[in-house]
Amino acid sequence: MSLNLLQAWQAAKARLEAAGLAGPVIDARLLVEAAAEATRADIVGDPYRALTPEQEATLEDYLTRREHREPISHILGRKGFWKIMLNVTPDVLTPRPDTETLVEWVLRDFPERAAWSVLDLGVGSGAILLSILAERPAARGLGVDVSEETLAVARDNAASLGLAGRMALLRGDWTAGLEDAAFDLVVSNPPYIASHVIETLEPEVRDHEPRVALVGGDDGLMHYRVLAPEILRVLKPGGRFAVEIGYDQKTAVEALFREAGAADIQTLQDLGQRDRVVAGAKKPLET
Ligand code: GLN
Repeated sequence: MSLNLLQAWQAAKARLEAAGLAGPVIDARLLVEAAAEATRADIVGDPYRALTPEQEATLEDYLTRREHREPISHILGRKGFWKIMLNVTPDVLTPRPDTETLVEWVLRDFPERAAWSVLDLGVGSGAILLSILAERPAARGLGVDVSEETLAVARDNAASLGLAGRMALLRGDWTAGLEDAAFDLVVSNPPYIASHVIETLEPEVRDHEPRVALVGGDDGLMHYRVLAPEILRVLKPGGRFAVEIGYDQKTAVEALFREAGAADIQTLQDLGQRDRVVAGAKKPLET
């Protein structure tokens, strides 16, 4: 028996609900759309369209994977972030809405037409850097990551968005290999989860996302200890920085940047009113 779009969506919802997933309605819709190569409008406007046997088999595969708590972003191979669509694989952290707080701050504070430079440390899929470059046509960026597989995803995303000409990528351990005072802006979403917390996370994150992009040592702060002085080193005088933090890391991360000599330190909150981004500046040269 072949299912139509509406039946497929309802059956998918029931299965994901029975599996105890938090968002069965949206998950079911996204998986049916992808498996049946349908749009959201098709499900409403053409609900009796039958799925082909191949589409049904694909949907079955997607639902089984989702029941095993594979993230939707991995099943679909893509995730929307800010105003762009990114390819996502298990080698990169799935872009999260929380991180849009950082992008919003950058776009508010950096002029639209000026030719400034941005460094993204731990570039991952390219979510932050590519969102910025997409909206600032004269800006240029460098993305650094330790993982070659990750850089391949970022490269692919830059190419699909037509931004490869303004983004360079470099494999490296944070700022090792970068010169002093080279960038107007440095951004980073480093791994910041304390090692002992990992096992308490949802299976989608714990079992499917790259640990190297999540774990920040025993207290979660390991990478900020390296990054705070190094970010100040590679910023131009007067340049600015913004790093994502865990909701309970404001005091510790602000202190690390203060010790590193940063000015104008402030913490921004995400849409859920959690502390999410520490931003600041390198002091301008005395005149
Ligand atoms: N916000 C992510 C999470 O809680 C962690 C991201 C990170 O470590 N940079 O899953």
